[in-house]
Amino acid sequence: MQQSGQNLRLAIQKDGRLTQPTLDLLRAVGLEFETYRARLFAACRNFELELLYVRDDDISEYVAEGVVDLGIVGQNLVVESGFDVCELLPLRFGYCSLVVAVPKDSTIQRVEELRGAKIATSYPQSAGRYFSSHGVEVSLIPVSGSVELAPALGVASGIVELTATGSTLRINDLRAIDTVLTSQAAVIANPAALERLEKRRKIDRLLMRLRAALVARDYKYVMMNVPKAALRQVEEVAHGMKSPTIVELADPNWVAVHTAVREEFFWEVIEKLRDAGASEILVSPIEKMIV
Ligand code: ATP
Ligand code: ZN
Repeated sequence: MQQSGQNLRLAIQKDGRLTQPTLDLLRAVGLEFETYRARLFAACRNFELELLYVRDDDISEYVAEGVVDLGIVGQNLVVESGFDVCELLPLRFGYCSLVVAVPKDSTIQRVEELRGAKIATSYPQSAGRYFSSHGVEVSLIPVSGSVELAPALGVASGIVELTATGSTLRINDLRAIDTVLTSQAAVIANPAALERLEKRRKIDRLLMRLRAALVARDYKYVMMNVPKAALRQVEEVAHGMKSPTIVELADPNWVAVHTAVREEFFWEVIEKLRDAGASEILVSPIEKMIV
């Protein structure tokens, strides 16, 4: 497949765990495109961007080879593939860990106790590097699916597999004993594309939009009425990005205060605002925040 035209090309997962959050993010940025997944390509109507829907395993390779300029894929697969790509932006979804796990009832506690053992994994490169760095020789059995079944089937005494909540491990009576790597979805780029001025400009424009949508998710926009006497205290609790906006009201004893509150501390801040005397507190999501 040859790169054509001036459009950026972005490879995303066609059908899997990253698909919906990826599409949600692209839409949150205001990109308009079709998601008729039977098609391989979708052109954006309002940005010089084409989406390519592929299997996640192929994304790093397509990016490294310049079939596409950009990809959105789990860091776990970038590391595993070993292809030469640049990570531009972690996206804060698709969180997971690659872990070493053994049967729940096994006496094994430390990875050193797996010396000489058979380990099933669909991440042979990452697992291989992990065990060598611990000086533990194991025999890796590459499997492509249902890795968690390997110990029960007697194929291996342990596994190296991805987990997010640990629930699949638990269901299969497995217990994690160490973490090989942690991962989230990220935007990756072809290194040569970053060197080309025209491409670079478009990539930077796209990244600015993605960052704006990601930052906005961290905040809520909060508006409230505050008695003037309580203003100092309210300002301290809700200082916002620089300082809160204060709007005079018809009633000279009251002002309206507009501010951004970090999602992380949201309820604590709201409680303090109420205690300080704020009332009629309105909260809305922020769509984009350019900082
Ligand atoms: P494909 O058909 O595209 O090859 P897949 O079945 O290999 O899909 P998914 O299971 O959809 O892949 O996972 C895609 C990515 O989601 C993983 O590579 C990883 O980065 C991330 N992920 C997040 N949580 C988990 C989890 N609990 N298990 C596996 N992957 C997870
Ligand atoms: Zn895959």
